[in-house]
Amino acid sequence: MTKTIVIGAGVGGLTAAALLLKAGHHVTVLEAQTYPGGCAGTFFHQGYRWDAGATLAGGFARGGPHFQVAERLGIKWPIHPVNPIAWTVHLPDGRAVPQWTDLESWRVEHRRAFPSAEKFWQTQERLADLSWDISSRHFPWPPQDGRDVVDLLRAIRPKTLLATPYILRTMAAIMPKDDPMLRTFVDANLLISAQATAEAANALYGSAALDLPRRGVNHIDGGMGGIAETLVNWIQANGGAVQYKQRIDKIDVRGNKAVAVHTNLHKRNKHSRRIFECDNLLCNLTPWALRDLLKGTAPPSLQRETRRRDPTWGAFMLYLGLDQSKLPKMNANHHQIVRDHTKPLGETNSIFLSISQADDPTRAPAGMQAANISTHTEVGQWWRLRADPARKAEYHEKREQYVEAMLATAEARLPGFRDAVVEILPATPVTYETWTDRPMGMVGGFAQKSILQARSPWTGLDNAWLVGDSVFPGQSTAGVTLSGMRVARKVLQ
Ligand SMILES: Cc1cc2nc3c(=O)[nH]c(=O)nc-3n(C[C@H](O)[C@H](O)[C@H](O)COP(=O)(O)OP(=O)(O)OC[C@H]3O[C@@H](n4cnc5c(N)ncnc54)[C@H](O)[C@@H]3O)c2cc1C
Repeated sequence: MTKTIVIGAGVGGLTAAALLLKAGHHVTVLEAQTYPGGCAGTFFHQGYRWDAGATLAGGFARGGPHFQVAERLGIKWPIHPVNPIAWTVHLPDGRAVPQWTDLESWRVEHRRAFPSAEKFWQTQERLADLSWDISSRHFPWPPQDGRDVVDLLRAIRPKTLLATPYILRTMAAIMPKDDPMLRTFVDANLLISAQATAEAANALYGSAALDLPRRGVNHIDGGMGGIAETLVNWIQANGGAVQYKQRIDKIDVRGNKAVAVHTNLHKRNKHSRRIFECDNLLCNLTPWALRDLLKGTAPPSLQRETRRRDPTWGAFMLYLGLDQSKLPKMNANHHQIVRDHTKPLGETNSIFLSISQADDPTRAPAGMQAANISTHTEVGQWWRLRADPARKAEYHEKREQYVEAMLATAEARLPGFRDAVVEILPATPVTYETWTDRPMGMVGGFAQKSILQARSPWTGLDNAWLVGDSVFPGQSTAGVTLSGMRVARKVLQ
């Protein structure tokens, strides 16, 4: 039996693990933490079940990535649709634009909110349909080898060619230039889905991202970690293994192949150290993390890549406990708020607020609700303060400033919100590195700018692949599910 080791129980790693198990591999998933899901996990603290990062899951509609995996494995996701508003976008001019999940309601809404942009929305809808159609046919993009090129050519339909003129275009190039609120709306949406704003985000990718509210957005019962937990249960019930508290510290390489992984090498207790041999190695990691585990044996291409690439975004997060009786009335459980359209997004100027379902007793103590507020943040600034013992106080001050600024942003558009907050747990990129083992707490994968620069699962080793949001199409549970499906196919080839 082919022995496959998966480093990391994120949604991407678990999806690939389950599909390979179904195909007859002997599969072991090794996870550093005590729970699965990574950035889309749910952790328990002080009576709350907080989502570590992701709070809203798309891709469950017929043909979507989560739908396809459920069909193949015969699983039922613990989901219920977010209806009728996926989230509300609060623009700096005081308007609130609901993102309706129903297409007709959304068309009425965007005509009302952005009346001079009808042509743009028609183009966006057309490109989104093309992009979702392409992704449902498992386009191996970008091709990693000759086999991928053949598969790619097979997946092309006459309709696919309609996308060609947009391969090199940005979202900004297909948008009206004279409506700053439309631009803010689009930028805010793209930042959380493509990790880039309209100026740089690719038009095909960006159009698909703007369509997410209409593509099967769901809440997961008990928190986002339910996606990973469902996959873990399936793997364990079908003879695979998922082992926790197994942090991989080193990968052994022989003849350009990964042959074994070592766990917990840094621990003093020799008995907790283990070595797992493998025929195939799936790495649910960023390229930087993989390089660090390979140490001196990292292939030159991986070393070059990790030197060349700029750091990706990080997240500053507030985990909140809210007193239900004091919460203001809201039209949705998710709110995206932009304060000032003349300033760059992120760094507390734009926030995403998610509140657990009032009727989900598993998420919070009686009478309370769990909530998250996140903002994009540049990771380097936090590490510069953290690395210098003389600046420890500055690090804590900055953290407090972010907490206050984010709560003030929420309060500005949802008056009364601040009074409902009874519990606050902040997380910086330093915290994220500790929780997810992602170097510098870089989350969300690469910005989806030029499609020609998309990253494949290639590692430079013959039997090892990257899986997760570093691989195209990048971040989100739907995106990493596509990467998991692609890598499983690649391994089986
Ligand atoms: C603040 C925030 C908000 C987000 N919001 C959304 C959203 O609303 N909707 C959405 O779809 N997506 C969202 N995302 C993105 C989404 O969460 C991620 O893209 C996705 O979950 C990443 O999955 P992954 O497979 O790449 O693995 P990761 O989540 O990175 O998980 C990797 C796993 O590997 C483990 N690991 C790492 N190194 C080792 C090691 N050496 N040994 C053993 N185990 C190891 C980690 O502990 C972790 O469990 C958000 C992300 C963040 C940070």
